[in-house]
Amino acid sequence: VIGLASAWRLTQRGCRVVIVDPRPAGAATHAAAGMLAPVSEVTYGETALLHVALESLRRYPDFVAELEDLTGREVGLRREGTLIAATDAGDRAMLADLHAFQAELGLTSTMLTSRECRSIEPSLHPDVRCGLLVASDHSVDNRRLADALLAAVIAGGATLVKETVAEICVDDNVESVTGIVTSAGTRHSAATVVLAAGPWSAAIAGLPAAARPPVRPVKGQILRLRPPTGQAVTTPLPEHSIRAISHGHDIYLVPRADGELVVGATVEDRGFDTTVRAGAVRELLRDARAVMPGIDELELVEASAALRPGSPDNRPIIGRTVIDNLVVATGHHRNGILLAPITADLVAGIVTSTTPAADAAHIDAVSPARLAKVPAGAGR
Ligand SMILES: Cc1cc2nc3c(=O)[nH]c(=O)nc-3n(C[C@H](O)[C@H](O)[C@H](O)COP(=O)(O)OP(=O)(O)OC[C@H]3O[C@@H](n4cnc5c(N)ncnc54)[C@H](O)[C@@H]3O)c2cc1C
Repeated sequence: VIGLASAWRLTQRGCRVVIVDPRPAGAATHAAAGMLAPVSEVTYGETALLHVALESLRRYPDFVAELEDLTGREVGLRREGTLIAATDAGDRAMLADLHAFQAELGLTSTMLTSRECRSIEPSLHPDVRCGLLVASDHSVDNRRLADALLAAVIAGGATLVKETVAEICVDDNVESVTGIVTSAGTRHSAATVVLAAGPWSAAIAGLPAAARPPVRPVKGQILRLRPPTGQAVTTPLPEHSIRAISHGHDIYLVPRADGELVVGATVEDRGFDTTVRAGAVRELLRDARAVMPGIDELELVEASAALRPGSPDNRPIIGRTVIDNLVVATGHHRNGILLAPITADLVAGIVTSTTPAADAAHIDAVSPARLAKVPAGAGR
């Protein structure tokens, strides 16, 4: 999503763009849940990320409207909001803390009683004691979004090369990139290379160490459920995205307009492993049932695993590197779908040297240079 969204904005600015990716719109972009939830996910010590994320969310409706107009494809932006449910006294206290922290930051959320929760979401578990409604946290169908972006970049005149980048080529003085070579041996020269290969961004040959973004893979396993074809289910699917803590784990259920319910997700440090484990599927279903027992009636249509590109401070890494014409756009960790609109604008501004003054603070917040200040191994 990061490469495609950036490519789209670059084609709009008249750049000649070549996208080199063996499986565009795949990887984490395909697996993700599509939550656009900066307020629900706000975390102590991460207010710099919050400001960038809120700005990206603000840009989302226009981004989607423009993309839908251009491609004639709907991408399933849902604005019903997010409900965080509490099932025990510990959760209730955690929600009260979160509510207070959000208020301190000027963010709007509303505490609901158990009755109020059930009045907006009748299929919640009877054990739900209270909830926190975040009306501004939305969701998008990330698969439709990525497919529409791919259509938009092709319509915009970009060339798609479905090959793997084997090497980024740097001149003899290690001062500028000259292009890339694919695994098929084809060379593509370029005035600028934008490196947006998710958690693989650090591993591509040819990159000098000082230009390598410090990203690591963070595994997520996730499920997709839907009502069995042709069979009625007695429990309605939720209208809101539902989040909760169940058995000590974060769980979320994200509804799509077409009846799909996305249930996720694990967060694991397991290198580049993308196997789907039976235990993870069992735990995700157990935790989701604790919030919404009616999911038992749904068909399990997909269990998948993918790798988030994690960064040392959980903020994306976007900007020019020590090599001026090598721009990185990665490290979006749990928020790459949410951060796609702002990332694309920032990348296009950087590459064409047309960053508006209003984006300067965001550029600083995500700049690769700030990571020199972060001790190795810091962050989740
Ligand atoms: C289970 C799960 C749930 C998530 N839920 C959400 C959510 O609700 N909301 C949210 O905002 N974010 C969510 N995320 C995070 C989000 O999916 C990622 O931050 C985002 O997809 C990162 O996008 P990307 O384009 O940087 O990386 P990716 O989606 O990983 O794409 C990287 C691309 O690089 C290509 N590539 C790799 N190596 C090479 C190479 N050598 N040559 C050419 N191409 C290469 C790959 O083929 C791929 O297409 C979730 C992630 C996971 C795993």
